[in-house]
Amino acid sequence: MIKLKLYNTLARRKEEFKPLKPGEIGLYTCGPTVYDYAHIGNLRTYIFEDILKRVLLYNGFRVKHVMNITDVGHLTGDRDMGEDKIEKGAAREGKTAWGIAEYYTQAFKEDIARLNILQPDIWVKATDTISDQIALVKALEEKGYTYHTADGIYFDTSKFKNYTKLSHQNIEALQEGARVEKNPEKRNPTDFALWKFSPQGTHRQMEWDSPWGIGFPGWHIECSAMSMKFLGDQLDIHCGGIDHIDVHHTNEIAQSEAATGKRFFNFWMHGAFLIISGGKKMAKSEENFLTLENAFIKQGLNPLVYRFAAFQTHYRKPMEYSDESVEAARNGLLHLQNQVRQVAKAKAESDNTAHAEFKDKFLQAVNDDLNMPRAMAVVQEMLKSAIDDSQKYASILDFNRVLGLNLDQLDKEQALPEAVQKLADARKNAREAKDFAASDRLRDEIEALGYMVQDTKEGMKVIKK
Ligand code: AMP
Ligand code: ZN
Repeated sequence: MIKLKLYNTLARRKEEFKPLKPGEIGLYTCGPTVYDYAHIGNLRTYIFEDILKRVLLYNGFRVKHVMNITDVGHLTGDRDMGEDKIEKGAAREGKTAWGIAEYYTQAFKEDIARLNILQPDIWVKATDTISDQIALVKALEEKGYTYHTADGIYFDTSKFKNYTKLSHQNIEALQEGARVEKNPEKRNPTDFALWKFSPQGTHRQMEWDSPWGIGFPGWHIECSAMSMKFLGDQLDIHCGGIDHIDVHHTNEIAQSEAATGKRFFNFWMHGAFLIISGGKKMAKSEENFLTLENAFIKQGLNPLVYRFAAFQTHYRKPMEYSDESVEAARNGLLHLQNQVRQVAKAKAESDNTAHAEFKDKFLQAVNDDLNMPRAMAVVQEMLKSAIDDSQKYASILDFNRVLGLNLDQLDKEQALPEAVQKLADARKNAREAKDFAASDRLRDEIEALGYMVQDTKEGMKVIKK
């Protein structure tokens, strides 16, 4: 029996994962704030969470996965100051707040589908659960955790014991960090808004009536209300990027546990950042962001190249993005696809069970806190081993349940369409004639039809992107 061990930010170490209830695991992943396209840094976090979910399924657990869409309340400053990102996005694009949220929600769903990220079982929009959020604020008010200020209802963090248990910071450091956004009415710098009033004299596009006045929810209360609504008040795993540890998730824990008196989530898992050369974090606000569309699709690259690239770095380590790393991932994926094509020919003899020894090794790697670099090494070790091709193919089909690289579809590939074949033949002739200008032009034409050209020792190969 190979145990599943996951790094729990709460405990600051790897712990054996055990579900709270036999049967189903509750998994909650903080979803996108839909005021712009997701950048590939955001998508790195969703790939990590997808691997987590697939590994849970691979271990035989049943998973109920909820992902929210933050379509209101996330302000430009994480600590309740600044503008609402959605309303700001709407002003930028001359659209309505609702229109912006809808547009970027669809764009996000398309991106994750292109990365083979499994859909959550439940999608939930913050704006669809306002009454649940109000009920949660009321419960906190009844228990004496809240106070009124001119701009909203706040949570008094000094009333919640062990407020820093997730961030492991000392409270003074956290208070100091929180002081940058000045709100003289806050009792403690770390206090946060549960409900914000619409500013006097202005009209927000998204606002609701509440027992305290017209306004909108704080970003943190949304995730607490949505996770508890669909998964109950004691849950298994909650994840997000590391930037959520100090504020967003810390506040979710404080308000949820204050309201229920129970431990909120058992496991908290956080993915490290994608950084670009120079060590800078990719961020929407930095305007240095690359989207899947710009960095991959428009460059004629299969988006799964990015998924493959993400496997090269452990999810808790920063991942560096560069032209070289993309090129290496592109070649790595093409190589793997070719290896699988070779063994896929033998599938008729396959009894469709993975090779036991390699399956154990693969499981050991992924169960060791989702060690994908090691899992990819096991894939190569298996493919280069002396076991027969049918067993290799059966093993690949099994591993692909975690990898999600469409390796199960390579045997279905058909012969090239006639137009592509003609271009391929012409390019072969051009290369033999050493007419490299023509050969390059023909490569572009082939790529424009959705195919990729690879020059290998065995000659030219043309495969579907
Ligand atoms: P947002 O749409 O800004 O709420 O972010 C969506 C997710 O992306 C969150 O889980 C963030 O923690 C995560 N995230 C933001 N920036 C990065 C980055 N550069 N690399 C990896 N994950 C990120
Ligand atoms: Zn959240």
